[in-house]
Amino acid sequence: MEENRGQKLTMLASDEEAEQIKTHAAGAKMGISEYLRSKVFGTPQGEAQGDLESQLRKLSERVDRLEKSGAPPKETRTCADPEHARIYGVGHCFDCDIPMKSAH
Ligand SMILES: [Zn+2]
Repeated sequence: MEENRGQKLTMLASDEEAEQIKTHAAGAKMGISEYLRSKVFGTPQGEAQGDLESQLRKLSERVDRLEKSGAPPKETRTCADPEHARIYGVGHCFDCDIPMKSAH
């Protein structure tokens, strides 16, 4: 029994249109067929969107954990790295982007 492989469609595009399609497809990290299909039928639910949602969920969980762990906010931390103190002295550590631990 012969497998139904669908139909091959071709289109005539101007050089400018063709370049635009290629650029957009490359920007979306898609093949040209895949890109055009997504334009007509919409982005497949799943992969791209699902991945983004799961990343967002993970990030939000991480922020929650950080807040609950009571990590001090950036402003109250100071740099105690002696190497940084040697470079920047007292004041601001530009490596860590926090104030230097004042030398007492
Ligand atoms: Zn530092």
